Amino acid sequence: MTKIALFARVSTIDNQEYERQISDLKKVILKDGYTEDQIEIFAEKVSGYKKNEDRPELTRLFNIVEKDGKAIEAIYVTEVSRLGRNPRLTKDTIERFCDLKIPIKILNPTLCTLNPDGSRNNFVAIMLSIAIEFSDIEAKTMKTRMKSGKRQRVIDGKFSTPNNPYGYTNDENGYVIIDDDEAEIIKMIFDKYQEGIGAKVIAQTLNEMNIPTKFNKTRATKVMKFNGEHTPTTGEDIIWSDTVIFQILKNTIYIGKRKYKTVDAVTEIIDNKKVITKPAEYDYVNTRAIISKEQFDICTELRTSKTDRQFYGKHVYLLKDLIRCGVCGKKYMGRYIPTKDKVYICTSKLKKGHACGNNSINISLIESVIFDQISKTDNLVKYLDNPNDVLNKIKDELKHLEQRLKNEKKELLNKQKQLENLIITISKSSNPNFDYFTKMDNEINTSIKSVNEKIKNIQKEIFSKKATITNYDQQQATNEMFTKAKENRTELTSIFKQFIDKIVINSIDKNYTLVTVFIKLKGVTLKTTLKLFIYSRGVRNFGGQKEKVYKYLPLIKLENEPVFKDNILLVEISDIFDEVQNLISYENISNLLPIKEMITIKPENYIFMFDTEK
Ligand SMILES: [Zn+2]
Repeated sequence: MTKIALFARVSTIDNQEYERQISDLKKVILKDGYTEDQIEIFAEKVSGYKKNEDRPELTRLFNIVEKDGKAIEAIYVTEVSRLGRNPRLTKDTIERFCDLKIPIKILNPTLCTLNPDGSRNNFVAIMLSIAIEFSDIEAKTMKTRMKSGKRQRVIDGKFSTPNNPYGYTNDENGYVIIDDDEAEIIKMIFDKYQEGIGAKVIAQTLNEMNIPTKFNKTRATKVMKFNGEHTPTTGEDIIWSDTVIFQILKNTIYIGKRKYKTVDAVTEIIDNKKVITKPAEYDYVNTRAIISKEQFDICTELRTSKTDRQFYGKHVYLLKDLIRCGVCGKKYMGRYIPTKDKVYICTSKLKKGHACGNNSINISLIESVIFDQISKTDNLVKYLDNPNDVLNKIKDELKHLEQRLKNEKKELLNKQKQLENLIITISKSSNPNFDYFTKMDNEINTSIKSVNEKIKNIQKEIFSKKATITNYDQQQATNEMFTKAKENRTELTSIFKQFIDKIVINSIDKNYTLVTVFIKLKGVTLKTTLKLFIYSRGVRNFGGQKEKVYKYLPLIKLENEPVFKDNILLVEISDIFDEVQNLISYENISNLLPIKEMITIKPENYIFMFDTEK
């Protein structure tokens, strides 16, 4: 059976064009009386920005016909330009196929290089040579060129303004650089999100502070169109939204990886609906980072775990979303398997070979300890009774900060004025002292820089306070509510969330675990943490006793205070533990009672996931 060669040539970034060529050619081939089985596709995929004419598919076709002159009956192409971009090579190609007596059928315009009797069609030859020389290759490839040009700009580290992401701008040559002011906002957004402030509140706070959006700056007067939006909006009116915040939190450009499309998605019309049958492909180019990879990953985890419930199954874990690993910084998740594990476990263990080494902790043990401790913390109760105290305190601090900002801005104006005066003086002087000028100029510029730095820091703090106020939880939780909720895990979970910002776990050894609780009162995280030393062995093999023992020591102040960065403990845990052991040890201090005594929770106050565990 002789074959028909279907020859297509497309840029790698234009999949739709490829599909179009194939389907157009197939239609004609079938109409000419050949069958689907006879069609062999030769598709040359050319990178848009590659200059060399590498043509493996054409070479393959030549190899076939040169081995067996009867293997291919005809070659079909949509346009003569598909045979190649270089006129000389294209003419050469046509010559060779004519010599082999294989006709090339062109769709647009409809031509065939050979007559039905196999002789050369001289008219077509002239037509083609003109078409090749003056072909509209340029016009046909314009679309592709534009796309690849845009991609080339990305690869070169440039922006197609004004679409640069928030936090970035471009220098006079179009290269990507960091916009310092916007970068500060980006850092705030990631910081706040990491602290547990939602995207909506972040957007609201930015709007309240009149922080301009990208559109406000670049397209203030341009009328924007949005899907389904009927009222015309100008760029000026576009404010921050949670969607934009989420886009920022997802954008890898902030860790220096700028994403760009290399291959378009393939779509097909199925049942009158456009369906993506092959997703687009992407690659990354390196650019300047604003956020650390660690922070980006933490925010990603926070963002995705809020909707991704698969790890949490059907059980209500009281400390869900609250526990972090003090070794690797990742989240802990609850794992309740009735006959096996009943633990909170570091998510690093989910990936084989990636476990950070931090131990798991028994669910009932840690939940009982936290409940016991929170219900006993006097301060907590006090704050619960006067929830507005905290809010008023923050409002006072905010007022103070705003005054400081005003002062610093005044100071900045003063310095700028000074600089101006200096330049005027020098320019008017008949015998200027340049040494003096240089010295003064340096001094004033240094102080301007430091004032600017101060202003940035104050603005950051103002943002932080405003976000806290906006986020302030108005729901009243009372101590009574708390004790009543003991049996209701869903309610208890929501109450825990009001009191606990986060909990960091560091296992000390087989027997003890350090649990650092960051307490939150009405949305405000306290600077002082609650340190709980939990005797984890008392539940594993009961520490040599017949019954389970829930024992722990709560501490507020330590000489060796645990310090964390991105949830990872920075101080030596052995130093902390030595200090604690001295506090509770009976042996070391003979004849004296220990300074601190561990608290043993009464079994009736244990908290269990299910009643049957009791
Ligand atoms: Zn870990």
